[in-house]
Amino acid sequence: MAAQPHILYIDDDPTNRTLVNRLLSSYNFIVLEANNGIEGLQLAQKHRPDLVLMDISMPGLDGYETTTRMRTLAGLAQTPIVAVTAHTTKGAREMALAAGCDGYIPKPIDIDQFPHQVIAYLEGRRETISTDEREHYLGKYSQKLVERLESKILELEEANQRLQKIDKLKSDFITVAAHELRTPITLVYGYARLLQKKTAPSDGNLIEHGSVADLSTRIYYSVHRLSDVVNDILNISLIDADEMRLEQKPVYLSHVVQAALNELDPNKNDRTLQISVTGLDALPPIKGDERRLRQVFWNILSNAIKFTPDAGSILITGWVAPQPESGPAIPEFRPSTWESGQRSVVIMVQDSGIGIDRSDQQDIFERFYIIEDTAYHSSSKIAFKGGGLGLGLPIAKGIVEAHGGRIWVESQGRHAKDSPGSKFYVLLPLD
Ligand code: ADP
Repeated sequence: MAAQPHILYIDDDPTNRTLVNRLLSSYNFIVLEANNGIEGLQLAQKHRPDLVLMDISMPGLDGYETTTRMRTLAGLAQTPIVAVTAHTTKGAREMALAAGCDGYIPKPIDIDQFPHQVIAYLEGRRETISTDEREHYLGKYSQKLVERLESKILELEEANQRLQKIDKLKSDFITVAAHELRTPITLVYGYARLLQKKTAPSDGNLIEHGSVADLSTRIYYSVHRLSDVVNDILNISLIDADEMRLEQKPVYLSHVVQAALNELDPNKNDRTLQISVTGLDALPPIKGDERRLRQVFWNILSNAIKFTPDAGSILITGWVAPQPESGPAIPEFRPSTWESGQRSVVIMVQDSGIGIDRSDQQDIFERFYIIEDTAYHSSSKIAFKGGGLGLGLPIAKGIVEAHGGRIWVESQGRHAKDSPGSKFYVLLPLD
């Protein structure tokens, strides 16, 4: 027996744990406590105790199941496991032994005897049952396991149905709220525009700070922004419901990208970024919805601008895939992303910004997913690290997929100082 044996005691009752801990500590044992089966398994793996005391009735994994699982963990096959339980019904002891326990101490424990019982197990005491009894109780035990599994599956199915119902309620609420906001916002937007036009100084005079013209311009831009937010929410509802209607006209992606860039125009708005566009003019037109596709590139470009520090660069380029013989090399192109024989156009937006961790690269295309801490949320379309609703990329994905295309991102990771950058790819079918 080790000089200071380590005992792991697994019991969901803190009073029992305190009592056993005090009692065994006074006999120079080191006692580790676990509140449930899962925690017990983790502690056992980490500390490899000399003996495990196992409560049987616990929520989650019960003592029998925890014992069976513990026996399969590396280094714990031979560790003595002793059931400590108030289960004194006929067969409880045999069931514990069949599940893999080496002994059985009934609760309430006998304060005087308990440390000596533990020492006996540490010194090699093992209880046994006959082969017939073991077989009988193993049969009962596996039946009990199947029943537990069945009730857990039912519980999970019910929980899943409840979650789906709540998720639908939430989505319906968002859609209805956005619809309700749409009408008044359209009115305010129209009146603000009218007011702004009427109060604008003639002859190119500057707008005076605090004047009616200044205030009406501010109202106009704020309502514009509000209207964008509501539109984004309505768009994502359409995508969710698979109800986005697309025009099918020839679209030149060079025009689409340029229109989005003109609208964002970061360098006019206090940002200093080097933005270059190459190879788009040579692309053949695709069939699709120009307005929707502009939204895709607006969202991707707005992100590239927001997540690239000043003096950084953004490159927008494109090619036809499969690679035309005379075309540019296709960087990191993944043939698995398109069907064989299907010609496509690929547009890549590469920024030298803060990048995206691999673990986030799928999730950023999910609704309302934003990486930054929302406590520091500052809403902007172009300011460095400006925030949004987390709907830009899901909308882009919805539109691209409605065109039969794909969207994905590549990045080495996220780092504010090293700026590993990101590459967003949009693949759209050509024929
Ligand atoms: P939002 O509409 O709020 O901008 P998006 O769905 O467009 O949200 O983007 C989700 C998140 O993905 C952003 O909050 C940002 O953290 C991350 N992200 C998107 N594009 C980039 C990029 N080019 N560089 C770094 N992070 C990005």
